[in-house]
Amino acid sequence: MACGHTVLMRLVASAYAVAQKAGMIVRRVIAEGDLGIVEKTCATDLQTKADRLVQMSICSSLARKFPRLTIIGEEDLPPEEVDQELIEDGQWEEILKQPCPSQYSAIKEEDLVVWVDPLDGTKEYTEDFFISVIVLINLAYALKCVAASNNEMLDNSQRNRNDDHFSPRDDDKAGPDAVLGRTIWGVLGLGAFGFQLKEVPAGKHIITTTRSHSNQLVMDCVTAMNPDDVLRVGGAGNKIIQLIEGKASAYVFASPGCKKWDTCAPEVILHAVGGKLTDIHGNALQYNKEVKHMNSAGVLATLRNYDYYASRVPQSVKNALVP
Ligand code: AMP
Ligand code: MG
Ligand code: MG
Repeated sequence: MACGHTVLMRLVASAYAVAQKAGMIVRRVIAEGDLGIVEKTCATDLQTKADRLVQMSICSSLARKFPRLTIIGEEDLPPEEVDQELIEDGQWEEILKQPCPSQYSAIKEEDLVVWVDPLDGTKEYTEDFFISVIVLINLAYALKCVAASNNEMLDNSQRNRNDDHFSPRDDDKAGPDAVLGRTIWGVLGLGAFGFQLKEVPAGKHIITTTRSHSNQLVMDCVTAMNPDDVLRVGGAGNKIIQLIEGKASAYVFASPGCKKWDTCAPEVILHAVGGKLTDIHGNALQYNKEVKHMNSAGVLATLRNYDYYASRVPQSVKNALVP
């Protein structure tokens, strides 16, 4: 039911514009050549100049327009004056033409939590696997993630080259300020947009899992799914795109490591088209501001046939992962 420009739809429309700006910042850092890599907890847990600038851009842009929001960003950054050049105050008008689902029409700014992953797939970004890199802006209300705007580095024609090393650097005509890639967005009860929904052929079990953060538990769980194929790629957002574009049938990550800012936007997009994302035990994840950031009991996500994959998680894996 249409209900005008509600806080939720204005915020999603702004987050869309902010996500596009974020994509440009990520490209510009690549073009400048110095990624400014810092180790956070270990060699597979990295932060780059792009993670820092994009988080500043997203958080400051949204906080200026929506000062009563709670915004939780992945990166731990010292408070500092944000360069005006990083601020985006536009909004995507097409989103404002869409009706707000009636259950969200009365949401106020102070009811919403924004989970920000300024760059999902940082490890792969530092290794030139740009296909993994996505900016995730996630909006949660009560315990649930309800809306998201995500900008991908590469658009679908580039993804379909099946060439993980294809780089924005290769596109010499575009320049660092061009809006490239694509922005996928969604609202529960309205749908998810910016991609063509496709399913894996019936009967095929193609598992997508981590490329950089594997361990014995992850491998045991993947093997137990009896897969026809296993794709090892970076980024939680990237793996959900594989599910909704018919490249993979289940995202299986039986390990702690993924955080709320990794799973919130992917969950919205997947749930909006009838899929399901839970921890490895089948519990729904919660996104209120008090919740712990780590998804300690891993991730299991599918577009279809969730029960098949859930039924194959070994008891030993469940015992090892406490929610
Ligand atoms: P991956 O599938 O390995 O790309 O992980 C998906 C998201 O979870 C990324 O944002 C990773 O940075 C994060 N992640 C998963 N496992 C770990 C870990 N062991 N340490 C740090 N980050 C992790
Ligand atoms: Mg991430
Ligand atoms: Mg990140």
